[in-house]
Amino acid sequence: MTFTLEPLSPPLRLLLGPGPSEVAPEVLEALSRPLIGHLDPAFLKLMDGIMEGLRVLFRTRNRLTLPISGTGSAGMETAISNLVEADDRVVVAICGYFGARMAEMCRRRGAKIVTVEAPWGGPVDPADVVRAVAAGPTKAVCIVHAETSTGVLQPLEGIADAVHEAGGFLIADTVTSLGGVPLDVDATGIDAAYSGSQKCLSAPPGASPFTISERAMEAVRTRRTPVPFWYLDLTLLNRYFDAGDRVYHHTAPISNFYALHEAIRLALDEGLEARWRRHAAAGAALAEGAAALGLDLLVDPRWRLGVLTTIKVPAGVDEKEIRRRLLAEEGIEIAGGLGPLAGKVWRVGLMGHGARIENVERLLAALRRLL
Ligand code: PLP
Repeated sequence: MTFTLEPLSPPLRLLLGPGPSEVAPEVLEALSRPLIGHLDPAFLKLMDGIMEGLRVLFRTRNRLTLPISGTGSAGMETAISNLVEADDRVVVAICGYFGARMAEMCRRRGAKIVTVEAPWGGPVDPADVVRAVAAGPTKAVCIVHAETSTGVLQPLEGIADAVHEAGGFLIADTVTSLGGVPLDVDATGIDAAYSGSQKCLSAPPGASPFTISERAMEAVRTRRTPVPFWYLDLTLLNRYFDAGDRVYHHTAPISNFYALHEAIRLALDEGLEARWRRHAAAGAALAEGAAALGLDLLVDPRWRLGVLTTIKVPAGVDEKEIRRRLLAEEGIEIAGGLGPLAGKVWRVGLMGHGARIENVERLLAALRRLL
């Protein structure tokens, strides 16, 4: 049997879905730089830079702040599989697809799960989470800060204090918030947070920014049972990433880390607050432009996430067909709804390099024509 492949030639797209997002030319260029070894002093220095840059972006002093090799779900698995053990009572806030994924991972770890749920399109009431924590000995609260399935920014007030008082830990999914939405890990009292490289950081998927407090790491070190995943065991990863030791654990995805390095460098050059403002301005322009087209948004302005907007599909409009034509005729990618929102909303991401007014205008002009 003979088989040949055509030379690689991906189409040019404007990525305005929930991720991956548009990538800056400097980041794309970084992917083509020559490889070096994963224990080369130059690579270890690059890792140190990534770790320090991530501390700035997460607003944390946590020493163990690193990119996990894998996508955002690997970060989620790392946080949960290191901190949650069988029979631990874990409170999981669910108001969308990714909260449900956190619950599923906790279930697979054998945790006793207490869910606090709210309808898709709004946040979970933090007071309900606090009440659930108070109702029993709680090892962890799992919560999504920016729910990409609905476009809701989750308020976190009071949750860290409640779970800390119970002796437990706050695990926050910041996949869609890091670098795009105000986030301050230390001031909020988050014990472990993970993110994705392909959202507001605008790097390719494959590295999950991760941070964990020293208090939470102490709990990992004193677990009753070994971390179930050798690959994601933070005590082992710590020895590879920590400056004092640097023992081989796995071969870091070199080119991916190059790209992440450049994406972080660009974010730091822009300045975190300026970056948050740019994202907010792009999201506001989309909300305004959608209203001018007679389109309704799913989420109340109080909780609305500028980096991910859910637009209700007007009655009589074929949701999938509009997306198909946007891609085929305009080269623009947006996404449809997940779970109960399937067929009912479009999800538009204005993240990282893509969070620009000219992209909003291009999308609105295309929607005006197609609708
Ligand atoms: N959590 C949230 C809020 C997400 O939006 C996503 C992906 O979209 C994930 C987790 C999972 O990340 P990944 O698809 O990179 O594994």
